[in-house]
Amino acid sequence: MAAAPTTYKHFSHAHALAVHHTAPGSDVHCSGCKSRAAGCVYACWACNYFLDQQCFAAARSMLHPAHPTHPLTLLPYPTYASASFFCNACGLAGDAFCYCCSDCEFDVHVRCAAAHNPNAAAGLGYTPHTGSALYPPPVQTGALFPTPM
Ligand SMILES: [Zn+2]
Ligand SMILES: [Zn+2]
Ligand SMILES: [Zn+2]
Ligand SMILES: [Zn+2]
Repeated sequence: MAAAPTTYKHFSHAHALAVHHTAPGSDVHCSGCKSRAAGCVYACWACNYFLDQQCFAAARSMLHPAHPTHPLTLLPYPTYASASFFCNACGLAGDAFCYCCSDCEFDVHVRCAAAHNPNAAAGLGYTPHTGSALYPPPVQTGALFPTPM
């Protein structure tokens, strides 16, 4: 009797995910960030659902310097009627994982949130500036994430 593979539950998917090591050059894309996944992924083969390490390990909520007034919540899919969102960091659309503040309709991709969030590595040691609402964020000015005043 073969040993059952180790599986993992992730809030974004109804089925258990099994660790899979992608073959070099294979065309597996992460269902969370839609990026090509390399190396170790978490897979539901029945649904062709894959998560790379970053999306699998992404925190359910985070504080982001670009939106210091509210924590951002990780959603497995956009809640908008259009089923897509526009990332406040890179300006591109997304239709999968999204860090969102539903109060302000502030959304960023998982990768954008991680790439621009110095607190991601620092254990969320960020103190929100109460009373200094930074919305809408000045994403059109070229300075994506200015230091909050
Ligand atoms: Zn991903
Ligand atoms: Zn599934
Ligand atoms: Zn983005
Ligand atoms: Zn907000």
